[in-house]
Amino acid sequence: MTSEGNKETGEVFQLSTMTSLLAGVYEGAMNYHQIKEHGDFGIGTFEHLDGEMIGFDNKFYRLRGDGTATPLKPEDKTPFCSLTHFRPQIKKNFDKPLNKAEFEQELHRLVPSDNLFYAYRIDGVFREVRTRTVAYQEKPVPMTEAVKTQPVFDFENRKGTIIGFWTPAFAQGIAVAGYHFHFIDEEKQGGGHVLDYVLDHGTLLIDQKTHQSLYTPHTESFLKADLARNDLEKEIQVTEG
Ligand code: ZN
Repeated sequence: MTSEGNKETGEVFQLSTMTSLLAGVYEGAMNYHQIKEHGDFGIGTFEHLDGEMIGFDNKFYRLRGDGTATPLKPEDKTPFCSLTHFRPQIKKNFDKPLNKAEFEQELHRLVPSDNLFYAYRIDGVFREVRTRTVAYQEKPVPMTEAVKTQPVFDFENRKGTIIGFWTPAFAQGIAVAGYHFHFIDEEKQGGGHVLDYVLDHGTLLIDQKTHQSLYTPHTESFLKADLARNDLEKEIQVTEG
């Protein structure tokens, strides 16, 4: 196995930045038809913060606050997403229950450094998954305000898939530093942004990436936004959990 992807498959494509979501930039910068060339796997959100996005195996879904999951449409726009061509090099099976902290320790053990980008996929049975789903925002309020009314769901003893990324600390504010995971159940009926989980058993795949590629939007709201954050760590703690 090799960790050297070619230029295309080694890339984590990043559309816009986490700081712009914090600043309330929810205007769609690209639609999914335009970004699909950048990956078959990813997480993100939608214009007006209207739901969470999850995609893998080249199938992409919108997860909404009413608990539904629907296949997204090519014309659906997004203000923020992270995509990659998922080509895992590491596989590991887990047959004993692990909570989030225990599982993250396992994840750390399996990779060479915190200073690289990784994509993860976990298929399994989860004793619990606690998710939130951002809700439609008519106005561009700061995301710390927008999440005050976010619905939180608890999935119990559910088969499903968690996917997402590890972003190194030095890229905080471009994406979410640390682990950023989204969940969808096996029936593709519900899910959201992962706040907490207990894995019962499952299979983990890890794809070590070679680089991040940042696309800066040219939308009116991005161009005019004040993206300097006074307390970036705290804002991301509040919005991402
Ligand atoms: Zn998320």
